[in-house]
Amino acid sequence: MSAPLLEVNDLKKHFRVRGGFLGRAPAWVYAVDGVSFEIARGETLSLVGESGCGKSTVGRAILRLFDVTAGQVVLDGRRIDDLSAGALRPIRRRVQVVFQDPFSSLNPRMRVKDIVAEPIRNFGLAASSADLDARVAALMDKVRLPREAVERWPHEFSGGQRQRIGIARALAAEPELIICDEAVSALDVSVKAQIVNLLQDLQQELGLAMLFISHDLAVVEHMTHRVAVMYLGKIVEVAPKRRIFAAPQHPYTQALLSAVPVPEPGANRQRIILKGDVPSPINPPKGCRFHTRCPYAFDRCRVEEPKLQPTEAGHLAACHLLEGAASAAA
Ligand code: SF4
Repeated sequence: MSAPLLEVNDLKKHFRVRGGFLGRAPAWVYAVDGVSFEIARGETLSLVGESGCGKSTVGRAILRLFDVTAGQVVLDGRRIDDLSAGALRPIRRRVQVVFQDPFSSLNPRMRVKDIVAEPIRNFGLAASSADLDARVAALMDKVRLPREAVERWPHEFSGGQRQRIGIARALAAEPELIICDEAVSALDVSVKAQIVNLLQDLQQELGLAMLFISHDLAVVEHMTHRVAVMYLGKIVEVAPKRRIFAAPQHPYTQALLSAVPVPEPGANRQRIILKGDVPSPINPPKGCRFHTRCPYAFDRCRVEEPKLQPTEAGHLAACHLLEGAASAAA
């Protein structure tokens, strides 16, 4: 098996905030607290979970939008989390991002041609101005926008069209990995489906790896190879898509999936309603972080944190109840 394109090892990102008496004593938000996964070339891994679980922070840490607290991010065998700004520059070309909001992620003072050409110029990818124009035109073809649209301004486009421009800009750098951070969440249902199909087609055509960060499991089911489920800064389950959707192992994943509409008419799925709210990442529960909401919690869950371990080949889950399956899989 070839080496993964991206490896994330025990990644932690803790943000310091004011808190305590009169707001003076510092406190820490444990946004990401020991996350590990890999993405192969050409593979899509979806990172899912409720709002505030830390999934977007993982994406931003990989992009080095801030320094990580601990752990490693390894791209193509090279550690990138500790690189200087200069050494990071060529890496930035290889990892691009498509953000959620197509209205704020494009510079309103730039024409589309300049938005799409910017990464090509920044990374010196065009041999001439004719080559630059040809590359921009080819990117417009790839995202299925008319070539003449390059002369227009972002405000002249719909949300879906703007997201296509954002995808063209990401592709312009010729990346190997694209991080889609809730990239279709702000779009209407029909437009969402079009953008998801476009991303899938582009991935196959260009052999891209993708980290697809989303809270929308119906979309994830449509386009991913594997799924990693996050809860309060930790991954609680990872498995191939078919396994996660057919036989989720972790009680949190089971609850999340129970809320996804079933496409077949007449089919039924028992909805699992979790009690209470997600606890604060400033003071996460001891033991299993999910124990305050888990319908199966028992004494051990309150004191001992379960490890993420295989329940069968390629399927890992962090739950004390699954230890029997884990030893059988070992
Ligand atoms: Fe629930 Fe305990 Fe499993 Fe956590 S370890 S998911 S609290 S049963």
